[in-house]
Amino acid sequence: MLNSDPTEIDKFSALANKWWDPNSEFKPLHDINPLRLDFIDQHAGLAGKSVLDVGCGGGILSESMAQRGAHVTGIDLAEKSLKIARLHLLESGAQVNYQLIAVEALAEQQPASFDVITCMEMLEHVPDPASVVHACATLVKPGGWVFFSTLNRNTKSFLYAIVGAEYLLNLLPRGTHSYAKFITPAELARHAREFGLDTQHLSGMSYNPIRKHYVLGTNTDVNYLMACRRNA
Ligand code: SAH
Repeated sequence: MLNSDPTEIDKFSALANKWWDPNSEFKPLHDINPLRLDFIDQHAGLAGKSVLDVGCGGGILSESMAQRGAHVTGIDLAEKSLKIARLHLLESGAQVNYQLIAVEALAEQQPASFDVITCMEMLEHVPDPASVVHACATLVKPGGWVFFSTLNRNTKSFLYAIVGAEYLLNLLPRGTHSYAKFITPAELARHAREFGLDTQHLSGMSYNPIRKHYVLGTNTDVNYLMACRRNA
């Protein structure tokens, strides 16, 4: 059975032609990209590494990692997004291998084959996030890094990520996120540990609505990034 929610895939497919418009519904992903790219690069050292980007969408993060010298494979289940991602390579000149495949299927085909795995803003859109964490833990080489980012679950994240971002500030389309799918850092770290991944770093990512920008910091109440390492 595919660990995928068709309404989620449809939601992203419907917006696919906007992936590379920095003023579109994907603006927040463009805005946070330099922050997460640096976070990943600082911990894992991207140059020359084989990287898998899980739920890559139109390739915002995949391309930027390739530009830092990584050999990037991007996977997603939204075919339209992958089409846009491939087209954008013609414009940017970046090299990324995009594939339509579920992370669980790839884990069966090529276990322990990536130095670095990134899975950003994706876990909160799948029916069984632990299955994705398991697949990532299988795909990474011993000693390799796995990075997750998602939304914390508490009153403040409900107010900021749903009421604020979707209803007051219109940063995201209404219905982008559902509160029940938010995951606390402790839950994510527990899943990771079950599958042999140790949490090494946790960073918050917060939005300042006055200055209209994002910063990394210690506040993990809403958005957060987690760096895990596979036991050697
Ligand atoms: N990781 C990208 C895109 C985040 S948007 C970034 O941060 O820039 C969430 C992405 O997850 C979308 O591209 C969507 O198609 C993808 N997605 C949702 N469910 C998925 C699943 N079950 N398997 C793979 N990708 C999925």
